[in-house]
Parts: sequence; structure tokens; C-alpha cells
Amino acid sequence: MKRYLSIWIIFGILLISLTNIPTIYARQVEIETDDLLVRSGPGTSYEPIGHVSSGQVFTYLDQEGEWISIDYHSETGWISAQFASITTEQENWEEKPSNDEDAQTDGNEGTVFTTIIPVDVVNLRSEPSTNGDIVTEIPIGEMISFSVMNDSDWIHVTWGDYTGYMPSWIIGDEMQFTEVQDSIFQGKVIVIDPGHGGIDVGAISAAGYYESDYAMMTSEVLRDTLEKLGATVYMTREDDYYYSLSPRASLANLHLADVFLSIHYNSTPQYPSANGMNTFYRESNDRALAGYVHNSLIETTEANDRGYDSGDYSVLRTGSRPGLLLELGFISNVEEEENIQSHQYQRKMTEGIIHGLRRYFSQR
Ligand SMILES: [Zn+2]
Repeated sequence: MKRYLSIWIIFGILLISLTNIPTIYARQVEIETDDLLVRSGPGTSYEPIGHVSSGQVFTYLDQEGEWISIDYHSETGWISAQFASITTEQENWEEKPSNDEDAQTDGNEGTVFTTIIPVDVVNLRSEPSTNGDIVTEIPIGEMISFSVMNDSDWIHVTWGDYTGYMPSWIIGDEMQFTEVQDSIFQGKVIVIDPGHGGIDVGAISAAGYYESDYAMMTSEVLRDTLEKLGATVYMTREDDYYYSLSPRASLANLHLADVFLSIHYNSTPQYPSANGMNTFYRESNDRALAGYVHNSLIETTEANDRGYDSGDYSVLRTGSRPGLLLELGFISNVEEEENIQSHQYQRKMTEGIIHGLRRYFSQR
């Protein structure tokens, strides 16, 4: 939201000299033993709050002596450091093996990659064999994290709360990966508008970061995923520069976009507990689109549901294409900002938007 913009610009200029570019993706912790207790504090005297197992990956929060804290279902959980490894995944978010060799090299064992399921449905199994029980089925377009296993045609996969194994050929063949795409997105044109930019930093977060940076982070993840699914994506800005609002929607008109998405984060420093997501549309024709995307976002992220509604936003006003403005959470809320910074939550938001778009396109 662009409230008190002039105050924020002044505040922003003051902050520019004091803050660095945010480290957008938190570090990750991979569990290396089965049935490891998660505790509420850094020591065996703290009460257990759950269990984690080998291969599961969590966002790293902090370390105290021999204990590491992780984002455990949006709570802070502590585990013994000796049973886990901390990975610097920062680039891995978009990293996938560029070819078979990369995926199969011994040196990559333990490295966590992220990719998108390129085939209709994959069985996730409890063991690296077709004899293993089916833990769950993962549909096309879902994002998984995986690590390569030495001397095996199987990879170790984490998808949401599930872990298991799938054959490496599913993600290993670059040609297949790029050729097999989700037909629903093929030929679709999506224009993504990372809100604000440049001198207009948007809202300032509880931790002192800018809405414009968070909007860009989410937009880039969304763009990369949509492109992998076969969509053509245009961004209204690729850099940290301010572009006025009406040309942003005009870009969607120009490219005859199937959908225009303006990405924002909310902020109410006066009510730091406010949280959750809103979705706005301008034309009543776009109400169905708003419903699909909003409800999917709430489903995948479990964010507080602030509803979807019509809103007369300038960035939507000049658009003649179906368009939404997404307020993806309150960066003035400390907990919500921590979520937004995390790799897993960004993935969930992207999944939510993509599920919603898939439902919308398949209804037309
Ligand atoms: Zn905004």
C-alpha cells in the first residue's frame, strides 16, 4: 500500500545509507537422522514439539551452542546440531541440474536442488525402489527440493511436509524437462508487475526492508516458474527503478495478456499484529479470477484470509486485460515478514498463484 509515501521516501533515503540489500532467502537445514525430536528451546530440558526425519529441509533461523532453530510449521523449533547440516541454498532456489551429468556427479550428493515436476503425476515412494510404498502423488507443476544419491537412479525428494524417493530420470533429462510442459500454460501470456521500485520503495518492513524488494523477489520466482510451465511472461520492471503506474497495465494491453498480476506487500506499522492476504480486482469480470487465485493462495500458505474484493487501484485502471492486485502479507508483522523471507513460503505462494491460474484457465 502506498500510504504516507512521502514520509517513507524521506525515511527510505535515510535508511539507504544504513541498510544493506536484504539477504532474501534464509539458509536451510537438512535433517540427517530419522525421528529427531524438535524442542521448544535449545536444550534437552525443553519440551518436545514434534519430530523430523532424514532428508527433510527447513529454514534456518538461529544457532545457540549445539542447537539450531528451524522454522517448524511456522513455529520456532530447536534441534541438536549434530544431526543436521546447514546448507547455503541461496542460489539453489532456481538451481536445477543443467544436465544429467550435473545431477549424477558424486560431488552433488547432499546438495539440495529445486525443480518443478514436469510430468503429469509422480509417485513419491518410501524407498528408492518401485517396491517402496507410495507416500503421496505429486502433480505436474509442483516444486520439489531434491538431493542426488550416489550409485542410484533415484533422488531423495522433499515436497511440503512429505519426503521420499522418485526416479532421477523424471528430473534428470534436460530435454524432457523443457519439452514436457503444462499444456494449460502453453501459449498463455502473463504480465507480472513487481510493485513500486526505485525511489518508491513502497512499505518499509518491521526489519527495515522494502516492499519493492520483496515484490521483486516474489515476482522473479513466479516468473521463472510460469516460464518453466510454458507461459510467456513479461515484467513491468526488471530492475529497481520507478515506473509510473498506468504504463504498467498498458504493457498487459500491449501484449494481450491473459492475466496481469501486480505484486504487493501490505504494512500497518500502527497495528503490527495485522497479517494475512488480500486480493483485489477492478472489473467484476475478474471476480472469478480473483477467487481462484486468492483461495488457492490461502490454501497453500494457510495465511490469514482477508478476502478478495473490488478495488479501484490506479495500476489496474488503465488495464483492459484481466488483472489482479495481490497483497501477499504484512511486512510490518515480524512473524509474517520472517515467513515472506523464507524459501519455503515463497514457494508456497508461487504454488498458490499457479494453482489458482490453472483453475481459472481450465474453467474457460
Ligand atoms: Zn504496494
